[in-house]
Amino acid sequence: MFVRKILASLPCLMTLVSTLILAQENRVALVGGLLIDGSGEEPLRNSIVLINNDRIEAVGTIGRLAIPENYQLVSTEGMTVLPGLWDPHVHLLYNGHPDFGHWFNNYSDQFADITIPASARQFLMAGVTSVRDLAVNTDDIATVRSRIESGEIPGPTIYAAGSALVPTDAPQSRPHILPVRDVQTAIEETNKLIAAGMDIIKILGATPASQETVNAIVETAHAAGVRVTAHGREDEEIRIALRAGVDEIQHIGVSTPTYPADLLDMVEDRVANGVPLYWNPTIGMILNTDELAADPEWLDDPKNFVGLPPEMEMNIRQAIASAEFAVQPPAASDTIKRKLQSLSERGVIFTFGSDEGTFGHPASEATWRELETWVFELGMDPLLALKWATADSAAYMGVLDEVGTISPGKLADVIAVKGSPLRHFSTLREPAMVFKNGQRVK
Ligand SMILES: [Zn+2]
Repeated sequence: MFVRKILASLPCLMTLVSTLILAQENRVALVGGLLIDGSGEEPLRNSIVLINNDRIEAVGTIGRLAIPENYQLVSTEGMTVLPGLWDPHVHLLYNGHPDFGHWFNNYSDQFADITIPASARQFLMAGVTSVRDLAVNTDDIATVRSRIESGEIPGPTIYAAGSALVPTDAPQSRPHILPVRDVQTAIEETNKLIAAGMDIIKILGATPASQETVNAIVETAHAAGVRVTAHGREDEEIRIALRAGVDEIQHIGVSTPTYPADLLDMVEDRVANGVPLYWNPTIGMILNTDELAADPEWLDDPKNFVGLPPEMEMNIRQAIASAEFAVQPPAASDTIKRKLQSLSERGVIFTFGSDEGTFGHPASEATWRELETWVFELGMDPLLALKWATADSAAYMGVLDEVGTISPGKLADVIAVKGSPLRHFSTLREPAMVFKNGQRVK
């Protein structure tokens, strides 16, 4: 009798158990929008993207892909669905204050608790689901990264260089910059960064006298299978970096109109030897200055200050209000185009990145603005620009099989924007939806 009673109540019990499990499950069908999957393929109209927990389960179109019963339907009609954006050149510790000295003097003890988490949150709300930070206190970024990974605070997936290595015997002046005075220190500090889980090594401020130190950093990192990226606004910095065999160079400097012939020969030789040379131009900061000067109102947007305490917000606002906008010479655009062309002709591979964090480039704005600069100032195909800031960035970081396109089996880092970025790039400015690892965060 008792056994029969249990058996009779079993289906009911099973329903209860499966309902409880389902409540924890996350199954979402994004239905109707234009899909740009990040691969560079033509967009898909009337798309369906099925998200099952943290993964993309299936991609198809209305009428062809069946939506299982237990999926929550989310309409993306009138929207474009695309992979979460990447920004592989950011500085999370800054929040747009125009005076670096002031920022470090007053807020260095708040980077881990306040400023880095604020930038991380702003990035996520802006649809940027993966970033690479190039110069930040190693302990601070490691702390914030693990808080994000555990789900304690919101933010993108973070790849980081930790503190930038500066080949100099001057004492340490700022926490995100680590002086390396000789070859021995270079080896030790590089190994420490790698042991701390940093993903890439960043070199800043190389001088001809420091060539051996730079060589030692690169050799040590490469022996551990870690790439090295070097700051390269000046020609001499670039020569040192190329001699040492760095993987990637940062920025396009505009203080000289062209790269000298010997430097371009070095680039050509390097690529001809079969060792890829990557270059991270970060041109938006230079080419958007005139617009900032003409109409700085967007800097007042409250979303640029999300996550910051009122005192810090007021401090940034006041500093911006009294800051001088350094207007770029009209030749800057031509110089950048000329230099990009000369590098491109020699087989350099460009990596995307905005140099977020500095004045005029808050986390909530920097990424789409950089991309827009490439599309509208330099005429880059919008579809390729989006591939560059998604699949190509993931490929460069070695994780394209896990993320970077909207494809079955990959982590569901997905955003939806109103309208089409193929026609109006500013549609990327404020995504209507953001999914990080399948969880809807906006
Ligand atoms: Zn930078």
